Amino acid sequence: SLTVGVLSIQGDVQENLISAKTAVDELGIDVQVIDVRTPEEISQIDGLIIPGGESTTIGQLSLVNGSLKILKEKIQNGMPVLGICAGMIMLSNTADDRVVGKTDQPLLDIFDIKLERNSFGRQKESFESDVSLDSINIPKFNGVFIRAPSVSDVGSDVEVLSKFNDRIVAIKKGNVIGTAFHPELTEDTAIHKYFINLVNTSKN
Ligand code: GLN
Repeated sequence: SLTVGVLSIQGDVQENLISAKTAVDELGIDVQVIDVRTPEEISQIDGLIIPGGESTTIGQLSLVNGSLKILKEKIQNGMPVLGICAGMIMLSNTADDRVVGKTDQPLLDIFDIKLERNSFGRQKESFESDVSLDSINIPKFNGVFIRAPSVSDVGSDVEVLSKFNDRIVAIKKGNVIGTAFHPELTEDTAIHKYFINLVNTSKN
């Protein structure tokens, strides 16, 4: 059977394990969901969720333990990934913080985009708003934004899935999806289901 990993280096791992397992149950398909951290564990998976958290920490620790390299290889070889908030930052080629400017942090360099970290302000400026992802048949989704990044420009191979107030908040390139908001913090499993389906169809 297929295995979807949740990268458990830092961030909201448990919430993603629960959302992904719920999505698998609702779809009624044979997919294991496990947490992964080491290169050995990552080598076993068919799809990966990179949770929200602190991208500098996730990047630095995964560089040091050797996971960043195998992650990049697997993604370049077509492994589906859902990168959430810090996870979307990890997938990007550049990271520019709204306050401190360009940050020199380890990244996976998959999305050719212009991305701003902490784009909507600090923790206390967190908010929720409905967003739509029409091109993947999710017309209404409750977006939870927590120190979220936004994207202002995308390369020609990156599809815009959603915008909020003229800022790009969800993107897709092949099998790789990024969301600035946190789908694991709502009851709605539509985005996790879309992702599990993507893993399932890309392997069969
Ligand atoms: N602000 C965090 C960062 O830049 C991301 C926040 C989140 O994942 N909720 O890494």
